[in-house]
Amino acid sequence: MKKPSSRLNVIEQDSPENSSAEQLIEALRTKGFRITKIRQSMIEALVAASQPVSAPQLLEQVAQQHPSVNKTTIYRELDFLADNKILSEIDILDGMKRYEILHPDHHHHHLVCTSCRDIQCVEVPHHDLHALEGSIQKTHNFTVQSHVLEFFGLCGKCS
Ligand SMILES: [Zn+2]
Ligand SMILES: [Zn+2]
Ligand SMILES: [Zn+2]
Repeated sequence: MKKPSSRLNVIEQDSPENSSAEQLIEALRTKGFRITKIRQSMIEALVAASQPVSAPQLLEQVAQQHPSVNKTTIYRELDFLADNKILSEIDILDGMKRYEILHPDHHHHHLVCTSCRDIQCVEVPHHDLHALEGSIQKTHNFTVQSHVLEFFGLCGKCS
């Protein structure tokens, strides 16, 4: 067993274990979904993003290739991609959700700069959290299925 450590490992967005856009698109095709140009372009933009992106940022990027795209389409596609477990939503409490490709076996958390809104993906050692979840089960008779944990503060450039 790996020795628990308290280090936060920053997740590199371009690490080889991350799914490629082609793989995600192929998986959707296999499920019988149509891959529109917009859908493909959104998946590519999300895979290429170096950090979680907002809907307006996605709109801007997709519009470079498909100028006719509008906000409604972007939000509809975001819902579709979330329903199909392609992306996950992050709430950084500024009233605008951010989105990133979901890596099912790569549960992680975020360091959010409250000044420049930079977002870093980090793996948090979970031994303490698992102990806490176990004690919640005992003290509250409540089975924890998941948790959300983001850290807010100032990044190196802003502090
Ligand atoms: Zn966690
Ligand atoms: Zn910052
Ligand atoms: Zn992340």
